Amino acid sequence: MELRMTELTDLQFDQQHLWHPYTSITAPLPTFKVKRAFGAVIELEDGTQLIDGMSSWWCAIHGYNHPELNQAVVDQLKNMSHIMFGGLTHDPAIELGRLLLKITPPSLDKIFYADSGSVAVEVAMKMAVQYWSSKNGSTQSGAASLKNKKTNFITPRSGYHGDTWNAMSVCDPVTGMHQIFGSSLPNRIFVAAPQTAFDEVWNPGDILELEQTLAAQHEHIAALILEPIVQGAGGMRFYHPEYLRQAQLLCEKYQVLLIFDEIATGFGRTGKLFAWEWAGIEPDIMCIGKGLTGGYMTLSATLTTKHIAETISQGEAGVFMHGPTFMANPLACAVALKSTQLLMQQDWASNIQRIEQQLKLGLSSLAKLNYVQDVRVLGAIGVVELSFNVDMKTLQQEFVRRGIWVRPFGKLVYVMPPYIISEQQLAVLLQQLQEVVQGLGERAA
Ligand SMILES: *Cc1c(COP(=O)(O)O)cnc(C)c1O
Repeated sequence: MELRMTELTDLQFDQQHLWHPYTSITAPLPTFKVKRAFGAVIELEDGTQLIDGMSSWWCAIHGYNHPELNQAVVDQLKNMSHIMFGGLTHDPAIELGRLLLKITPPSLDKIFYADSGSVAVEVAMKMAVQYWSSKNGSTQSGAASLKNKKTNFITPRSGYHGDTWNAMSVCDPVTGMHQIFGSSLPNRIFVAAPQTAFDEVWNPGDILELEQTLAAQHEHIAALILEPIVQGAGGMRFYHPEYLRQAQLLCEKYQVLLIFDEIATGFGRTGKLFAWEWAGIEPDIMCIGKGLTGGYMTLSATLTTKHIAETISQGEAGVFMHGPTFMANPLACAVALKSTQLLMQQDWASNIQRIEQQLKLGLSSLAKLNYVQDVRVLGAIGVVELSFNVDMKTLQQEFVRRGIWVRPFGKLVYVMPPYIISEQQLAVLLQQLQEVVQGLGERAA
């Protein structure tokens, strides 16, 4: 056993024994071994330097190896890396909480720290159901009339909310994993994705299906869950803020809670600190993650209102039924606090605008290509949508050969660079990306 393993090179071992995200274990895509990363640069083992266009799946907002974030981790490490949150508390959790309440929607007042984005979504969905069961009587309690029927969820198509069971159940039912998991996934209620683009003229027809479905089924619906303004991994779609205003009115009318999943849109990515600000609509429950720790550690949070938290606490159970082992991990909270302070100390909005302008300039010429369906930019998100699915393996290698790190999916070649990317680095990233996308046409021709 020992021997067999030592005969393998590192990459062979990786290929034969380690799962990567959404990857076959028998025919895995190539992986590149990273030695270190700093700023907006990823350095591979052979010394190749790549300009990062992904922020490690949208979370390394301040880039890699940031001296102040490093220091925050080191300082916290000297006190404790972890301590249980049951019955104990600590400064990193408290200070982070104070700051989060200042920058999130004013009506949100209670914070539940969790381990990852998917878990934050699970927590949000549990909160919604526990709210209604506290209000209307749990399914276990005696009188049939008191039974809580509001246990299901409604969500627009093309959404993405994570890979755990309930999060998966509200992902887009076509591009998501519904077919594979079949009847073992809870049956959610889907409506058409918002169609009016972010900067188009609002089409009132966009909200009709949501309205009709809520009218018919609201008695069974605990909450509407959606990603405000930007639908991320479900298709990188940017939609009109009016959709959120209308959706909120409908939620009020039909007594359905509104959950905003801001895991991808939070911390400045769309040009607002959080995407709810585009519409001025405050949710009942909000999930944050990804950029929360500046990409250093895994941490997420689910925030809710005083009313919802108190109703849950006055229900039959008397408590909210969730409590992860690593809840409010002090190392993660300490680095999240520093990362968020760093963001708030700077003129982050102008910086995002700088990136937005450059993305628009650098990508717009691609719209002319006949196999490019759409080019769209919002904040520090730039998307090129092709008319065909890309061959990720070939494209990934081509990007690396050209010194940039971009990981496309489906028909989408997109960038979400770290906010500290310099003008020059971004120019190189966009130039190389442009040439690769242009080359796709030559290959197709
Ligand atoms: C990434 C993402 C999640 C899941 O977060 P994980 O940390 O990967 O579990 C949930 N919702 C949205 C909108 C995301 O972008």
